[in-house]
Amino acid sequence: LVSRKKKPENTIIDIKGEKIGNSKTHFVMGPCAVESYEQVAEVAKAIKSKGIKLLRGGAFKPRTSPYDFQGLGLEGLQILRQVADEHDLAVVSEIVNPAHIENALEYVDVIQIGARNMQNFELLKAAGDVDKPVLLKRGLSATISEFINAAEYIISRGNGNIILCERGIRTYERATRNTLDISAVPILKQETHLPVMVDVTHSTGRRDLLIPMAKAALAIGADGIMAEVHPDPAVALSDSAQQMDIPMFEQFMDELERYAISH
Ligand code: PEP
Ligand code: MN
Repeated sequence: LVSRKKKPENTIIDIKGEKIGNSKTHFVMGPCAVESYEQVAEVAKAIKSKGIKLLRGGAFKPRTSPYDFQGLGLEGLQILRQVADEHDLAVVSEIVNPAHIENALEYVDVIQIGARNMQNFELLKAAGDVDKPVLLKRGLSATISEFINAAEYIISRGNGNIILCERGIRTYERATRNTLDISAVPILKQETHLPVMVDVTHSTGRRDLLIPMAKAALAIGADGIMAEVHPDPAVALSDSAQQMDIPMFEQFMDELERYAISH
């Protein structure tokens, strides 16, 4: 059902007036993890001033180590909702447990399914059963075909509002945290009718590569860019090395303005 052969025209997903897939460039920005009201509010103000509508933040963090910060959970979702409402933004946040999907509907505008859960089929089915857009990230070592099949799990249950997100794959290269598979973007656009975004933060794990990778993503037709922004990345509870601070975020947006499609 996600195949372009079945539906030649692009799927356009309306998230609080932001129409993803309409050939404009969309940005999903916010901290890696929700840490406090003040932290999210500061980032929300900055993204709002750049005309960005989609606020991200992790409340449930699927960390590689059980000893790392696991997120604020429900409290994190509540903070996101409150800040988003105060600034008229939409919330994108990861849900990791199929049993949490129903409850999350009250707080999020987009359900994110993370790389580590791309083949959590019960989670995919639960997301497919609700009427809420899903941002599905490519698995750590998933082929494009496996990625498309994961989206198929969601759409086959009735929910076709899916944004695919390339976030880098695991290769032998260690200079970057993952290898951004840039060719996945045009392939996914050719093979499916779904919007495709690129997460420049988790694909690189390097702050100094965010701008060039975002330019590359836009050049090859990505519908949007995800990146992480934190008021003080040095003290961030997760992804300290790759989140942008607010001045860098502003520079990022100024630089990308020339490449983004905004009309
Ligand atoms: C995230 O976007 O917060 C995240 C954990 O990313 P990924 O699932 O791509 O690792
Ligand atoms: Mn992160």
